[in-house]
Amino acid sequence: MKTSKYTSKKNSKTGIDKQVKASAAGREKYVFSFGGAKAEGNETQKALLGGKGANLHGMTKLGLPVPPGFTVSTDVCTYYYRNSKNYPKGLEAQVRVALARVEKIMTRQFGSKNNPLLVSVRSGARASMPGMMDTILNLGLNDDTVTGLIEQSKDQRFGFDSYRRFIMMYSDVVLGIHSNQFEAALEDMKHERGVELDTELKAEDLKELVHKFKQIVRIAGHEFPEDPWEQLWGAVGAVFGSWMNPRAITYRKLHDIPEEWGTAVNVQSMVFGNMGDDCATGVAFTRDPSTGDKKFFGEFLVNAQGEDVVAGIRTPQPINNASKHASTENLPTLERVMPKAYAELVKVYKKLESHYRDMQDIEFTIENGKLYMLQTRSGKRTAAAAMKIATDMVRERLISKEEAVLRINPDQLDQLLHPRIDPTANKVVLAKGLPASPGAATGQTVFDPDTAEKWVKELGRKVILVRLETSPEDIHGMSVAEGILTARGGMTSHAAVVARGMGKCCVSGCSAIKVSYDNKDFCVGKHTIKEGDFITLDGSTGEVIKDKVPTIAPSLNKNFQELMRWVDQIRQMRVRTNADTPNDARVARSFGAEGIGLCRTEHMFFEAERIDAVREMILADNQQAREHALEKILPMQKGDFMGIFREMKGLPVTIRLLDPPLHEFIPHKDEELHSLAVKINVPYDRLKRKAESLHEFNPMLGHRGCRLGVSFPEIYRTQVRAIMEAACELACNEKFKIVPEIMIPLVGDWRELKIVGDYCRAEADRIIESFKTKGLKGMRYQIGTMIELPRAALTSGEIAKYAEFFSFGTNDLTQTTYGLSRDDSGMFLKDYLEAKIFEKDPFATLDTIGVGRLIKFSIDEGKATRTDLKVGICGEHGGDPASVEFCHTAGLDYVSCSPYRVPVARLAAAQATLKYPRRKLTKKRK
Ligand code: PEP
Ligand code: MG
Repeated sequence: MKTSKYTSKKNSKTGIDKQVKASAAGREKYVFSFGGAKAEGNETQKALLGGKGANLHGMTKLGLPVPPGFTVSTDVCTYYYRNSKNYPKGLEAQVRVALARVEKIMTRQFGSKNNPLLVSVRSGARASMPGMMDTILNLGLNDDTVTGLIEQSKDQRFGFDSYRRFIMMYSDVVLGIHSNQFEAALEDMKHERGVELDTELKAEDLKELVHKFKQIVRIAGHEFPEDPWEQLWGAVGAVFGSWMNPRAITYRKLHDIPEEWGTAVNVQSMVFGNMGDDCATGVAFTRDPSTGDKKFFGEFLVNAQGEDVVAGIRTPQPINNASKHASTENLPTLERVMPKAYAELVKVYKKLESHYRDMQDIEFTIENGKLYMLQTRSGKRTAAAAMKIATDMVRERLISKEEAVLRINPDQLDQLLHPRIDPTANKVVLAKGLPASPGAATGQTVFDPDTAEKWVKELGRKVILVRLETSPEDIHGMSVAEGILTARGGMTSHAAVVARGMGKCCVSGCSAIKVSYDNKDFCVGKHTIKEGDFITLDGSTGEVIKDKVPTIAPSLNKNFQELMRWVDQIRQMRVRTNADTPNDARVARSFGAEGIGLCRTEHMFFEAERIDAVREMILADNQQAREHALEKILPMQKGDFMGIFREMKGLPVTIRLLDPPLHEFIPHKDEELHSLAVKINVPYDRLKRKAESLHEFNPMLGHRGCRLGVSFPEIYRTQVRAIMEAACELACNEKFKIVPEIMIPLVGDWRELKIVGDYCRAEADRIIESFKTKGLKGMRYQIGTMIELPRAALTSGEIAKYAEFFSFGTNDLTQTTYGLSRDDSGMFLKDYLEAKIFEKDPFATLDTIGVGRLIKFSIDEGKATRTDLKVGICGEHGGDPASVEFCHTAGLDYVSCSPYRVPVARLAAAQATLKYPRRKLTKKRK
């Protein structure tokens, strides 16, 4: 068998040397021993030994008290699956040698009646997969060895309790006999004996239970193996088998863990935390995982086995005073009950933290007053704790600023930017939808945007807008709502995209709720939620919760600010924002946006007071009438642009001209058409005819974007005038230095861009000229385009002749390319989103194979035509960390994303720079 390509690269020198020697001797090395202050592996060998294994070796080397054992490498798992579940030749002999070593260190023998060695068998993949795979404890017990165990422990009850636990665990994991049957037998026994707790059963009861358990195994068609070696190989096979259990497969999919990695198996001498009152087991963190405070923090149970601490049956005790909280205030600490072991543990944790240079999550057992270390790994932590720990460790000179930046998970930043549900609150979860836009929101349920607006503006209430799905007509209700819940639609639905843009919490595609607009309620399970009832949304998990639930406000403290300063020093890409209003622009600036990469002007058209003027423009039968209506819109848009330019204080602003098809501005339903006809004084029939004539057979590619600009130049001309007048006025009166970037949407052919670009330039020049009499010396501006159709990407060389910048519209580009998602399994991105495969991810990641290839091609072609072409991205992917990394490697100048994603993108851009530094920036930063 060959060493897997995944392990060979990452192995440390010593690991490789050993393997080379082993191969030269005619055999591969599959088994790595640790114990007695020596280890054959080390903590860098996670690929070969798995995370748990590598750290057991590492801790042993550090001289920490680790029970001896050995690791069967991940290569064996790979071999096992490639060879019809057979083991490589030589493995058995290596296991025997390794076990003999453990016997020697422990002075106990595997299978011995008098002085037996018992072992644990645990999985351990390269990436942590908590609880996903199987573990077996007390292996080696049989009718003979149990007497030896009783002899060693001087405790008959303990011996039989360990034995019956082992039979249950082994039968469940290896023989596939569900533990329910054993649990039932245990319950029956307690009932017969008239006791309530397991601990009240006597040694003889447990002995009888062992017989009953074996009977269950027999009835299920097996004979419980008495031979410890048979037990061991059964357990090893089961651990490898659990790599492919459905839980593990799903977990790997969700966390992007490749199947080829495989798991290692750790076989380790048992130490017992449940052998009496001078025994204990516990878990601890070297710093507080919720706040990041530098305090040793953990809990333990006296006379218990590892699993009992997490099982939640007994309340664990705090290890020290710093770990106490209200409900454990009066419980004795480890520091008090076992001061010697505690003092030892303190030494160990300090050593571990300074060695690993990160906060550690450790598991320990105390057997007869002696401390043993069972595990150490980097501890999971909240975003706030991650910030504090990373910045503290830089100050403590444990890590560099660069390492600190790499330590923060960009996706986790969301936790800091939005209010969160108080994790200690009680809640009744009604249903779960897609976590479309993070944060938490509580409010009274409303089912239409008008009521939302009325309740908020007139009655001062807080509302949650519940819709089957949203459309642009709902904007006014969405903008006042605390949060948005929809029964239909995915992560890129209107509700999801708009809510993210607004930084509002949104749960979309919650198909379990049955919404009735007529009854003004929604039903889910046995609950009916009526208009006015309070609900709470958790946009980070997709939960819809009954009633009000307390939330915690976001806080951007000094740790955050400090870390983001380092981020900005490192990153090579600029980060802009997608913002349509001065308010969005302000929020984005406060999050560090360096400009606007996309201002969608249609959102300005949808504003309640404006939509009628827009409709008048649409209904106009000739250019003159259209221009008349546009005259009304002009000052409003100009005011918007001035507001945005002022907020951005001279930073670049890209304004996109009108994009959607015109039918989106006209209601679809008859009753709405009737009321609009009355409102704007147009005959219903005419309105209806117009609505029908505007209907787009394919609204994604139809008469929209630059094609509207080709048909109705006066629309874009008015927009350009509004932009340039706003900029020129600010330049004259408020001394702003602005270089407006005018962006033409949905270009598919260079001719479209030429036609539209020519008249836009003429209009812009005309406005600049007209301001010269008011003291304007001149103004630079740019005209560029979105690349959001495959044809545009493929003809970028031609298009770049007429565009000074490209901005990749990956929302449309993904759909029009049928962008596949990351695992290339044949489903389209949309299917993935609907299938909730990205339930954990608020953003889909850019399809780097299809869409990404088009982006790279487009940049190459575009720059070949125009060397100083500026390139950015403004699709939703601009806020997704993995996509930001791609954008960095593809050479983009900037990414643009919703205001609340700006810090996420800044961090992701810095991490990408550290991982893949560009030799030099594509363009000097301005
Ligand atoms: C895009 O297509 O990526 C884009 C930014 O435009 P919109 O989402 O407005 O279609
Ligand atoms: Mg688009």
